[in-house]
Amino acid sequence: MEKINNAPLKDYTTYKLKGNVKAIYFPKNIDELKEVIKSNKKYKIIGNGSNLIISSKYDGVLIKLKNFDKLIFDDNKVIVGAGYMLSNLNTKCMEEGLTGLEFTFGIPATIGGAIYQNAGAFGFNISELVSNVSALDENFNIVNLSNKDILFGYRDSIFKHKNYIILEVTLNLKKETSKTIKENMLKYINLRKEKQPLEYPSAGSTFKNPIGHSAGFLIEKSNLKGYSVNDAFVSDKHANFIINKGEASGDDIIKLIKIIKKKVKEDSNISLELEQEILE
Ligand SMILES: Cc1cc2nc3c(=O)[nH]c(=O)nc-3n(C[C@H](O)[C@H](O)[C@H](O)COP(=O)(O)OP(=O)(O)OC[C@H]3O[C@@H](n4cnc5c(N)ncnc54)[C@H](O)[C@@H]3O)c2cc1C
Repeated sequence: MEKINNAPLKDYTTYKLKGNVKAIYFPKNIDELKEVIKSNKKYKIIGNGSNLIISSKYDGVLIKLKNFDKLIFDDNKVIVGAGYMLSNLNTKCMEEGLTGLEFTFGIPATIGGAIYQNAGAFGFNISELVSNVSALDENFNIVNLSNKDILFGYRDSIFKHKNYIILEVTLNLKKETSKTIKENMLKYINLRKEKQPLEYPSAGSTFKNPIGHSAGFLIEKSNLKGYSVNDAFVSDKHANFIINKGEASGDDIIKLIKIIKKKVKEDSNISLELEQEILE
């Protein structure tokens, strides 16, 4: 099976983190996936690493499902493998004349990672498009979950609470002209470019928006724009983004997160909750 020992994290995280992971595996099918899990006590499934902060303490391996890349169109449905990138899926759907997914254009994630997190933007969430998901449970049984079974919430799904591995996703889309879909995609990507510091590596929004508040506004109110720990900076463009200006490690980002949380709690009496995930 394809495996890289001592793999550089900069190649597997959108933060382009400094440091290495013991090993990363790329199983080709469910049998290989089971084999890696059985032979490694500590492992983490990753999509595109666009929501992950990996600490130097992490001593497990990573499993990347890039070979789970099936794509089947069936009328207004699309069946897609967990490792398929959202950007490519958007392009394929546009070519097929299927609309619904455009709000995700520009999220550098896999469909598996997007389902896990119930990714959302511009008032839409991926949950609205999901018909069902097939997953591997802790006992290596393949389970088929309907939208209701997945218990989607704000950046939440059953996959955050159960040790299931998403294998395949069926989305319900609607017919539209490719021209209109392309225009929608461009509209959303331009909005992202306007508001987000896409010129630097990041993992998107650092914190969830507390009910009735904007995390970015609270961080800005605490005068933390531009604040840094080594090369990890609070973005000047969007305070809820931490950016890597060069050699930031997961540990630098974790330190910066602690400082932001403490300062916002002191200044606004609000406890910010992390949207990104720390692996340690
Ligand atoms: C520039 C930028 C913009 C972003 N914009 C948005 C946005 O608009 N909206 C938004 O919601 N997020 C956004 N994000 C954050 C991020 O892209 C999402 O959280 C995304 O869903 C993560 O997907 P991923 O494939 O990279 O998963 P990873 O970061 O690799 O993993 C995230 C979690 O998902 C789990 N996971 C991944 N695949 C599977 C699987 N097959 N089975 C089980 N668990 C799995 C991992 O174990 C991990 O716990 C942005 C990030 C960046 C860098």
